[in-house]
Amino acid sequence: MPQWLMGLSLHKKLELFAVLLLIPFCFGGLWNGNAGNVAGAIIASVFFFLSFLTPEKHRYSCYARALTAMGPGLVIWWIVSFNPTYASYWSFPFMLFLYFQLNLCRAITANLVFVGGLTLILTQYLDAPMLARFIAAHALANGFAIFFAHDRQVNEDRLKQLATTDSLTGLYNRREAMRSLQYALDIKSRYGQSSTLMIIDLDHFKKINDHNGHIKGDEVLVTFSRLMKDRVRSSDLLARLGGEEFLLLLRHTGLRQAGELAQQLIQCCREHPFDIAQAVTISIGVAECEDGESLATWLKAADDALYQAKQEGRDRLSYAPERKPARQVA
Ligand code: GH3
Ligand code: MG
Ligand code: MG
Repeated sequence: MPQWLMGLSLHKKLELFAVLLLIPFCFGGLWNGNAGNVAGAIIASVFFFLSFLTPEKHRYSCYARALTAMGPGLVIWWIVSFNPTYASYWSFPFMLFLYFQLNLCRAITANLVFVGGLTLILTQYLDAPMLARFIAAHALANGFAIFFAHDRQVNEDRLKQLATTDSLTGLYNRREAMRSLQYALDIKSRYGQSSTLMIIDLDHFKKINDHNGHIKGDEVLVTFSRLMKDRVRSSDLLARLGGEEFLLLLRHTGLRQAGELAQQLIQCCREHPFDIAQAVTISIGVAECEDGESLATWLKAADDALYQAKQEGRDRLSYAPERKPARQVA
């Protein structure tokens, strides 16, 4: 299989598969002179293709999915030539498709509307016992689908959490931090909105470990993480890069504001009682992203600034060389 295809998520693979699958429907419809089939297949493939093109993390992605979920319903509707008595053939796969495409809450709502609407239409065509069987079958099938969809969602959430967070502190991990930095750079190049990066390192942490033991050292890292988390905005990203090194990404924030926050963080860390004999201090390197910057150069700028802060005596912040604010905060 080609590499790009292997790299697609299961959702994306299915959406692509659905677009390709619908092409024969178009030709088949044309061949038979059935305009309804052709129109249905084209509409459905447009929905699928739109959904395929929309990035999964995009905020419009769930709407694209909802539209995509309507696609097969429309096609099947056309295939059965508007005869609702065939509903029991196509409504079940359609119902499952809703659970597959949407998250659990949206899928349950969509199915309530779908089965409710369909039942109203079918009252015109089916007698009471048939209608009761149709509703009972759907209730049962929805029950199973909810059970499996819930299971899948719980597993997905757990895997996502494991893949994106650090197990000791619960902060984001290095991979997630790099992904967010790259996104911030994309925003900068597309919209010109600047973000500022801080690399935070605990001073003489080796000594803290040596004097208090590794377990106490871990506790200091956890307390420190909580302290930082309480002081940053929800739009900021706080991550543990590894060891006693942390990263703070301040989105849509300039150097001056970042400098003020860095000073507060340094002070609050210095003054916090960490339940160990010595004071815990931090050094911070600050760098704002520049036009056309790469991830590597941005990180290096912040790293160089951190190195400078360490050289100047620790327990302080330093700005990346050549990127200092007009009137320096510290
Ligand atoms: P500096 O001020 O120059 O940063 O000195 P430092 O001692 O903090 O830096 P150094 O890189 O020499 O040592 C980092 C120490 O952090 C060494 C390592 O044992 C400790 N460390 C790394 N990861 C963990 C961890 O998960 N838990 C604990 N308790 N210690 C860790
Ligand atoms: Mg250190
Ligand atoms: Mg370090």
